[in-house]
Amino acid sequence: MQSVLGTEFGGMAEVLSDIYYQTGDKKWLTTAARFDHQAIMTPLANNQDQLSGLHANTNVPKWIAAAREYKATGTSKYLDVARNAWNIVIKAHTYAPGGNSQAEHFRAANDISGYLTTDTMEHCNSYNMLKLTHELWAIDPTNVAYFDFYERTLLNHILGAHDQSSSHGAVSYFSSLNPGATRGLGPAWGSGTWATDYSSFWCCQGTSVEVHTKHMDSIYFRDSSSSTLYVNLFVSSVLNWASKSIKITQSTTFPTSDTTTLTVAGTGQFTMKIRVPSWAKSTTIKVNGAAITAPSAGSYASINRSWASGDVVTAQFTMGFGTAPANDKSSLAAITYGPLVLSGLSSATTAPTLQLNTLKRTSTSALTFSATAGGSTMNLEQFADAQHVRIVTYFTITGSLP
Ligand SMILES: [Zn+2]
Repeated sequence: MQSVLGTEFGGMAEVLSDIYYQTGDKKWLTTAARFDHQAIMTPLANNQDQLSGLHANTNVPKWIAAAREYKATGTSKYLDVARNAWNIVIKAHTYAPGGNSQAEHFRAANDISGYLTTDTMEHCNSYNMLKLTHELWAIDPTNVAYFDFYERTLLNHILGAHDQSSSHGAVSYFSSLNPGATRGLGPAWGSGTWATDYSSFWCCQGTSVEVHTKHMDSIYFRDSSSSTLYVNLFVSSVLNWASKSIKITQSTTFPTSDTTTLTVAGTGQFTMKIRVPSWAKSTTIKVNGAAITAPSAGSYASINRSWASGDVVTAQFTMGFGTAPANDKSSLAAITYGPLVLSGLSSATTAPTLQLNTLKRTSTSALTFSATAGGSTMNLEQFADAQHVRIVTYFTITGSLP
């Protein structure tokens, strides 16, 4: 059986664990464990990064399964596998927009600058990493790092992998990170393009049937006693919390705006925990117009009260410019603004030198930016929106941030 597991078998243990949850019949859990791939799980349980050279997306579903098998069994090895895999991938194998893999494979730990190619960041991998993140956060809901990653990957890679001009919902396979990358200008097959109706069919098109229906499933969470409501993402949405007879309407144009408003309908006692992102330069939270003491970035604001219809919470997280350097080359970096990665609109084929102190936002109502790069003024947009153009995402950086 372990030899058989050397080939791609996707989410078998995840699916079998789900059947166990739905039926309570342990035979499904026993069968799920038959798909525990020890050659992958044992090093990860020991926190060893042996991912180099492995097919990336084959393995992420094994880690999602490990998280679910941990919840079903309490066996700590499963949790160690899932947590260590997440940490190793995020810290040593992930590009600035949140995606991982080059030509579908993990490369040597921290080797980012050597693999800024046309076939980086397979779409499926990020979708599966978000599923893993969802599972791990639910086990450790005080850890803001999980949803900082979730937000970064959702806003940059996942939304950017959807062709905004396609009425058929076309998605990308890879998202290229080479200088002058083609975003929707490449050949019909493979790198630097979106799917076509009939002349391409990738794993990522199968994944996309799920992925764009799942943007809403990680905005709000409650604890098992329904005494705490978590607000993890800032997305215009309506939460019908039926068991509490509470409705919460979140209104925002985030990330174009840095503010979100949550309006409560219904009455009841609960704690609202709002994620204060690690990128926030400053935070202002008001309840019915009165400011509360906001916690530091990278934690949860906690508002415990007896809520009444019409109560309004506003949360403002000031965005600023930052850099996300390649792990192996600090002079080569992506530019960030709050949770967003910014891409320069440029066909340069080597990384242009960008003067950090010239970065500025050029509109308050749109996500448009400029900087001096390659010796002249370059316009920048958020990675997700920079489509059907040539872009640069990693720059040679000089100077200091404004
Ligand atoms: Zn794929």
